[in-house]
Amino acid sequence: MSYLIQNALIPTEQGYETVDVQIEADRIAAIGSELPINKGQPNTVIDAQNKLLLPGFVNAHTHSSEMWQRGLIPPLPLELWLTDLYDFALTPEQVYLSALGTAVETLLTGGTSVVDHLVPIPGREAETIAAAVRAYREVGIRAFLAPLIQDEPFAAGLPQRGTSGTAFKTDAPTTEAVLALVQDAIEQFHQPDDRISILVAPTGIQLCSDVLFEGCIELSDRHNLCRHAHLLETKVQKMLAQEKYGGSAVTHLKQLGYLGPRTSLAHCVWLNEADIEILATTQSTVVHNPLSNLRLGSGIAPLLKYRKAGVNVTFGCDGSASNDSQDLLEAIKIGSILHNLTDSDYNAWITPREAIEMASLGGARGLNAADQFGSLTVGKKADLALYDLTNFSLLPCTDPIGLLVLGRPAQAVHSVWVDGQQIVSAGQVTSIDVSQLKQEIFERSQWRAGYSSLTRVALEARYREIMGLSPISPDQQSS
Ligand SMILES: [Zn+2]
Repeated sequence: MSYLIQNALIPTEQGYETVDVQIEADRIAAIGSELPINKGQPNTVIDAQNKLLLPGFVNAHTHSSEMWQRGLIPPLPLELWLTDLYDFALTPEQVYLSALGTAVETLLTGGTSVVDHLVPIPGREAETIAAAVRAYREVGIRAFLAPLIQDEPFAAGLPQRGTSGTAFKTDAPTTEAVLALVQDAIEQFHQPDDRISILVAPTGIQLCSDVLFEGCIELSDRHNLCRHAHLLETKVQKMLAQEKYGGSAVTHLKQLGYLGPRTSLAHCVWLNEADIEILATTQSTVVHNPLSNLRLGSGIAPLLKYRKAGVNVTFGCDGSASNDSQDLLEAIKIGSILHNLTDSDYNAWITPREAIEMASLGGARGLNAADQFGSLTVGKKADLALYDLTNFSLLPCTDPIGLLVLGRPAQAVHSVWVDGQQIVSAGQVTSIDVSQLKQEIFERSQWRAGYSSLTRVALEARYREIMGLSPISPDQQSS
């Protein structure tokens, strides 16, 4: 299939120009003015007048199955929020539906790739991965599936100070078992040419042994896979690293050999100057999840310091229970303007054009694929999004990229191509039946007010002690 996109507005170095873009098979074949229509072969002509064409963004960190709990968990810090999150039992069918939902929302906010740090259902791990792969294949989004693995019990994710009582689950899968799960996923599903890639993705230093990190490095090297992990999302994790390694988590990961140009790290809130330098020299990527960091009170990542040090930065929505949406444009907006607070030198503030490049090319870089997608370049994959500039939220005609980033675009995505295949047209995902998806999600959920797990109640006193918060009496516990 080929497409001729006519009269699209694209950004140039200084401004904008109107061009035609020819897509042949999976690639951008030509960009120029008044390109000829290839007669005699299927060539769909797209009228892109008054529309802005951009490279697709990467939703560079999310957990798709959290969609089932979005809006539900009260305002809590990560460590307590997690106890509520993991209190839910999901089925593979639900995982399938929430992966579809995550893909749809990513596409309709300009994303063409998603990194799904997928939480496997205990006891049904392989089915979980298969369900998500099925969903992404059906939608046609470029998916980087990162099975979230850990080999230490939940209670190990907190510093050992304070009460030593561990009234929490102490079972954890063995290192061998989780590595075998990833190995199976690679053998079954790692098909980058078919838009599905597997990443090695230990959840982070808080719940993973060195042996697990080393096993992931070995798999990544053997199969040429990208690496992913959470990194120093909260102050508690920084305290834990000090206790566990006697120093910086970043130094430790460097010594293990986990960092590098194929490694992307979510959050990176609690890094110091020396840590930042390590990320720069190893060419690791930071995935900024501003909404999740705000929602969970994790902190403000030192984004301008990363940029100044030359660290590649891109954006993620993070899971829908800590955001509570998958609106990539919202993450890009907040992830840019938030940092105007942290540095009074406005020359370092992130411009809308820089934000767009971070979300597209920066995302591709973090997946070691900057030569494959992430920019409007002839020869690259046709992973593209077309925005309707006559949409009310993008009026009046000012600076289209300025308004796209700083405004609040609503249903502004007109068309999306992934790997040269058009899967959004006239603002609708065309590869799956979205009304049926909505119906199924509706029927499998119910309205309720708030949530509180027993595990959270058991953990709260210890968490407060670790954080130096005043103790609370049992009747004051949050709910
Ligand atoms: Zn996450």
